[in-house]
Amino acid sequence: MGHRRFEVTTLGTGAALPARGRYPTSQLVNVNGSLYLIDCGEGTQQRLRSVGANFMRIGHVFISHLHGDHYLGLMGLISSMHLMGRTIELHVHGPADLKPIIDLQLRSSQTYLRYPLEFHALEPVSGRSAWTDDRVEVSLLALRHRLPCTGFVFTEKRTQRLLRKEKLYLIPQFMRDRVKHGEDLELPDGTVHPNRDLTTDPPEPRRYAYCSDTAYAPELIDHIRGVDLLYHEATFTERLARRAKETMHSTASQAAMLAHDADVGQLLLGHFSSRYKNTDELLAEASAIFSRTSVSEDGHTYPVIARSIL
Ligand SMILES: [Zn+2]
Repeated sequence: MGHRRFEVTTLGTGAALPARGRYPTSQLVNVNGSLYLIDCGEGTQQRLRSVGANFMRIGHVFISHLHGDHYLGLMGLISSMHLMGRTIELHVHGPADLKPIIDLQLRSSQTYLRYPLEFHALEPVSGRSAWTDDRVEVSLLALRHRLPCTGFVFTEKRTQRLLRKEKLYLIPQFMRDRVKHGEDLELPDGTVHPNRDLTTDPPEPRRYAYCSDTAYAPELIDHIRGVDLLYHEATFTERLARRAKETMHSTASQAAMLAHDADVGQLLLGHFSSRYKNTDELLAEASAIFSRTSVSEDGHTYPVIARSIL
């Protein structure tokens, strides 16, 4: 237990303009085999192919905002799923304006999707829950950007209680599920074994927070406090702090300050301006403030490691 899969693959780590070796933003979150896509910049389909992801296992797409580098790959993906014969529904979560954009494109190409596309309009309100299923809960972050922009916090579902090995002999097979759910064990002879004698606490649910695009937003701290992995955009270095402010993006230092103040497990930087040919300077700047920092690379996978075992 505690070894359930929870990982993030950064499919694209670039910002608005194309850069060699970097695609625009998209991430694939894998929670125990269920796939959730966050943002869907141009080329996302190719990136999904190159990391060997099965399109059909993507049940949800979350779009943060309507700048092109975060969603212009979406129609291609929707259309490919149709061509591949998808029948299971696809949930698209995004700003309300995204719905008529999708509808217009489908209508104009006379495409009648073979699968249900369920659209969920998002308003950026920090802490609001957007989706819950048997693997995760997804809640929202209100980011600071030129357009309404939403970040996401993925929290894995708590697992059942763990049976103590040395007590297994006491628990009849047919009662094990109920004990895992927290019930006391009452035997036919009337003996009662309190649940706490038979089980131990499951591991704390891990959390992953996604913050892109945004200016420095300290009001997020309460909502991302203690997350195991924080992805934060770092479009610029401090030398371009003014440019960051104008365009409502963050510097690597600001991302690191937020990670530090929110006491997160690890920080992953991304959304790099095409002016940076490599990420050394961005990494050095952030690491000076928050040491557990890495820079995301296109196509790499980052496990969400419990903060308590780092
Ligand atoms: Zn943007």
